Amino acid sequence: MSHLKRLSDSIKFRTVSGNWDQFLKLHKFLEDSFPIVHQKLELVKINDYSLLYKWNADTKESILLLAHMDVVPANEDEWDIPPFSGEIRDGFIWGRGTLDDKSCVMAILESVERLLSEGFQPKQTVYIAFGFDEETKGYLGARKIAEYLFKQNVKIEAILDEGAAIISRFLPQIDVPLALVGLAEKGLASFDLIAQGDGGHSSSPKRNSPVERMAKAIERISSYKNEIHLTRPVEEFFKTCSGLMPSTSSFFLKNMKFFLPLIKKRIETVPSLNAMLRTTMCVTIVHAGMADNVIPDKVVATVNTRIIPQETAEDVFKRLKELLKDLQIDVVKNDRWEVSDPVPCSDMKTEFFSKLSQTINEVFPDSVVTPFLTIGGTDSRHYKHLCSNIYRFAPIIMKGEEMNLIHGKNERISTQAYEKMIDFYYRLLKKE
Ligand SMILES: [Zn+2]
Repeated sequence: MSHLKRLSDSIKFRTVSGNWDQFLKLHKFLEDSFPIVHQKLELVKINDYSLLYKWNADTKESILLLAHMDVVPANEDEWDIPPFSGEIRDGFIWGRGTLDDKSCVMAILESVERLLSEGFQPKQTVYIAFGFDEETKGYLGARKIAEYLFKQNVKIEAILDEGAAIISRFLPQIDVPLALVGLAEKGLASFDLIAQGDGGHSSSPKRNSPVERMAKAIERISSYKNEIHLTRPVEEFFKTCSGLMPSTSSFFLKNMKFFLPLIKKRIETVPSLNAMLRTTMCVTIVHAGMADNVIPDKVVATVNTRIIPQETAEDVFKRLKELLKDLQIDVVKNDRWEVSDPVPCSDMKTEFFSKLSQTINEVFPDSVVTPFLTIGGTDSRHYKHLCSNIYRFAPIIMKGEEMNLIHGKNERISTQAYEKMIDFYYRLLKKE
């Protein structure tokens, strides 16, 4: 069976968190597909469904590769090819997880199997951890693996997780693909907004109802601009870009600290750049009303915030309360999940970072490596107390618009891109 067939088969398991039997079947499939890995590496199952492999080299420090086996659900009707078919067609492997993140799981195992079959033994202990609930915040998977490693007193020198990739045409003026390596990660927290007051019959409405106050609150949150912070990875990102652009833009980008106040209006119009520079806030859920002729006496909305390093969830909580205080709206910490503060910047001068950059250059010679700020949340944040050098990079090359396939319809990876992923992990591990 070829590596393409194996990836294709792995997609067939509907590993949406909660479908536990699918995870057990996937475990069995991995055991059958990678016999040498399962013979030579130690495997511990954490919290029943996470897999933690140890490739022992008896060293004090180790490195840790992360990926997750769970996927987000897919609305089958919208897809051209069924999302759990894993069909190989027109040079692509199709299906949910081909980009996020089963391809990483499978490529890591492919590379280790290949290295073992060649008799390779790393000089440094390598841990490989696959969680099962990254898409639902990672508290049962990654969090528990991190606790286990902590209890075992495992010392980790560096961690590699998903969280950025190689993107061509990331900025319209830059021709070369940018290999974005996330050095820091934004925090995340959701807060509930609760407006209460008199309800009643809609035939004789009183003004300033809970719905009307909530509408004002949502409008205020949407137009609110949090303070801009130029964090280290973003400053470095702009510096890298400056070397790849025509001279006038280049001058601005290179001296971003100085020019930011002048060009921030332009940056604000590009959502991805805006998100790299400030905390963002967005209302994602609104609950109110039961009948068209009844004014509801309670409205609850959820605001999801993504927090820039240099701020905390507590800062954002206070800010929201202040922003809405005259609207008689309560802001409460959402109890469905915990808040997660930003993860600070990792060191760019480590041995692992240079191995990582070197490997990227070998496998993707046209690309330029640049530091980056990971905007979404990754499993790696659960490991921040174990290791301060966390790098977020999946070796997948894609065009800017292909990023919409992640969590979207028709998710797919080209067979060439997948082969490069395996080559990447193979070469990276060979340097260990
Ligand atoms: Zn993912």
